Amino acid sequence: MNQLGPTTGDQLASAPARALVVLRGVEKRFATGTLALRGVDLTIETGDFVSLLGPSGCGKSTLLRIIAGLIAPSAGTLDWPRAEHDAAGVAHPRLGFVFQEPTLMPWTTAAKNVALPLRLEGVARSERLDRATAALRQVGLAGFEQAYPRALSGGMKMRVSIARALVTRPDILLLDEPFAALDEITRFRLNNDLLAIWQETGVTVVFVTHSVFESVYLSRRIAVMAARPGRITREIAIEAPYPRDEAFRTSAEYAALCRTVSASLEEAIAA
Ligand code: ADP
Repeated sequence: MNQLGPTTGDQLASAPARALVVLRGVEKRFATGTLALRGVDLTIETGDFVSLLGPSGCGKSTLLRIIAGLIAPSAGTLDWPRAEHDAAGVAHPRLGFVFQEPTLMPWTTAAKNVALPLRLEGVARSERLDRATAALRQVGLAGFEQAYPRALSGGMKMRVSIARALVTRPDILLLDEPFAALDEITRFRLNNDLLAIWQETGVTVVFVTHSVFESVYLSRRIAVMAARPGRITREIAIEAPYPRDEAFRTSAEYAALCRTVSASLEEAIAA
């Protein structure tokens, strides 16, 4: 395992052949005066699995929303070197976003929920349904196309939400504490399934969590964050090989990695 300091300007100049998104000096001050983020430098490479780990209120969701383009930074830059840009030079990366709550439309089926982003893109009906069916299969919900959200468990609803994010074939999947409300067994299963989807599709993943255990299990890289103002205090590479499974979760290596990351988080909280 390597412990890396926050990415420096020099590293950005030399590194990003595979960079998907590069944040430099990102700051966010809300209208209330809260300085939610300051001086965030982060490069996310194509195919990476990066967790943003930190205590509640350190700006993880704000950072994820800035990457998603849902809110604008008050200072700093966000570049998508490989994405399509329009005539005005604005980047249009293909994004999938998974919120803490599944946010499904209760009045319609799983397949139609998943197909919604395609409908908004103007994709023809038959293709929409084919792609929604394939995305549901990808998250382990083959056969549930016609199910309504009320008939699904919490874990299944979250799977539908992930399928909806995948159906547009995004370059980057942004997940904001998606499994926090689930029981532990369901959460472990979804962790495994998310890793399988990541490996199968090659999608880049940014995953927000406050769980050391979850971040170590999933990630290739963890950006540890501290609060007031929100910032990245350390980046930690988790070099354990994939596929990771229950044997890894119960290994001495995993326990040692969790201890190291916990210590970094404690440092960040004390900083
Ligand atoms: P985390 O995801 O790590 O829990 P957030 O990004 O949600 O942290 O919030 C970081 C800080 O910004 C917190 O102090 C929070 O209260 C504040 N904040 C978040 N969203 C808003 C908003 N829309 N308006 C004002 N303050 C906000």
